[in-house]
Amino acid sequence: MTSKQEPLEFILTKRKTSSKRDVSNRVEDFNEIYSSNNNDVLSQQASRCLDCGNPYCEWKCPLHNYIPNWLEQVALGNNQLAYQLMYETNPLPEICGRVCPQDRLCEKACTINDEFGAVTIGEIEKNISDQGIENNWSTNLQEAPVTKYKVAIIGAGPAGLGCADQLARDGIKAIVFDQYPEIGGLLTFGIPSFKLEKQVIRKRRKYLENLGVEFKLNTQVGTDITFDQLKSEYDCLFLAMGTYKNVTTNIPNIDAQGVIQALDYLIGNIDHCEKFNYRPANYYDLKDKNVVVLGGGDTAMDCVRTAIRQQAKNVTCIYRRDQLSMPGSPAEVNNSQQEGVDFLFNYSPVSVEIDPVNQSVKGINLQQTILSADNKIKALQNTNTFVEADAIITAFGFRANPAAWLKEHDIEIDPLGLIITGTKVNKSNSQQTTAENIFAGGDMVRGADLVVTAIADGIKAANEIITYLSEK
Ligand code: FAD
Ligand code: SF4
Repeated sequence: MTSKQEPLEFILTKRKTSSKRDVSNRVEDFNEIYSSNNNDVLSQQASRCLDCGNPYCEWKCPLHNYIPNWLEQVALGNNQLAYQLMYETNPLPEICGRVCPQDRLCEKACTINDEFGAVTIGEIEKNISDQGIENNWSTNLQEAPVTKYKVAIIGAGPAGLGCADQLARDGIKAIVFDQYPEIGGLLTFGIPSFKLEKQVIRKRRKYLENLGVEFKLNTQVGTDITFDQLKSEYDCLFLAMGTYKNVTTNIPNIDAQGVIQALDYLIGNIDHCEKFNYRPANYYDLKDKNVVVLGGGDTAMDCVRTAIRQQAKNVTCIYRRDQLSMPGSPAEVNNSQQEGVDFLFNYSPVSVEIDPVNQSVKGINLQQTILSADNKIKALQNTNTFVEADAIITAFGFRANPAAWLKEHDIEIDPLGLIITGTKVNKSNSQQTTAENIFAGGDMVRGADLVVTAIADGIKAANEIITYLSEK
């Protein structure tokens, strides 16, 4: 511990009374302290924080992480304290540091972003929390009072894990059910390993289990265990089952052999590479193939970059608007371009061309598009073109696929299939559903969104459950 280091409790108390910190002598201090090269780089980055007094970064982060406070501690070399501050507000900082679209969130809001480039907040969060987990730097957890309550969580994705962590910190037993053989939801079975190494999730699982969270994997609620059983055995339930229905298009031959839906492709590849052996038949090997990916979001970028890693012959991404209108993170598009993906902008699919003999994909017919004044896509006549392909991956996004048994249990769902919570169903708790002791969050409430927003919902739900149970 250095002379500049303050205890966690003190920093947290100070946050409540002041948002401005004393940054005098920061540079001198950190020059003395650092020994490791990696830590040198991290502290230099962290010391770029101007302590602007208006923590826009913190407001823009959906978890409202104490970013300027932990940057200060990293700059001072107090990595352990920095990690403890990170973990105060974020149960999965090592994951957010890797997969958050920082260029749309915290780093976009950084005061120095426009002129000098943002402080690399995500990179610092990732590296410090990796150190935190490796060295077991979390504190005070054994001190949580143990209560008599038990909560069942359905879904071990980021929303479920966020909820479980918060409940465990408050002494409530959390039992998490998931149909997959590993925790993480889309963190494990969606986001490719080159963006999020799966051993990171395994380490977090170990940590959560040590905290007292119990996982019941390979267990599909509704099939392997009934919802009624969970309702009768637990004090509260948290639903965090995600959204898994692929958005499709009805162009001719879209069901042909060789057309693959994005999530099937990504899950099959992770399942194969990580040897989960969950659905071995769903593995698509695109080595030496001409691959076309339809779509312009982050999932499309995950598909093109996975196909590149499978050593596809050519990978072309086709998007019906221009590059600036792409919904995903610009950094991901940039990565894809650097890795050799070709992009065709302002083209829309017309039909899948198939081989008349074996009915498998030969390519895709396209038409050029322009954006009309009211931002609608208009196809241009006589602009048809053909792109050869052995495989076409469709990545048009996801819709809700609520389980049939939700309605049977008086859980209200909107016309898009999303669970309705909070004031919209006359509940003062933002994550509470129409059923009294059942809460919900993540993608199945807000629609396909982000890891960090799912975590935020999970924490919020846990806090609401804690209050609900204490008032019972
Ligand atoms: P999920 O992560 O979907 O978890 C739901 C869990 O519920 C699953 O494990 C599922 O098996 C389980 N489940 C469902 N039904 C049952 C049942 N009946 N019984 C038992 N278990 C059940 N976001 C980012 O911020 N950054 C990214 O880089 C990013 N990349 C993405 C890449 C892809 C390919 C996809 C599809 C999404 C990506 N996202 C990304 C979005 C992000 O992954 C999701 O918003 C987030 O995972 C939602 O969390 P969740 O907990 O609500 O649901
Ligand atoms: Fe930035 Fe995401 Fe970390 Fe928040 S959780 S500080 S948005 S990387």
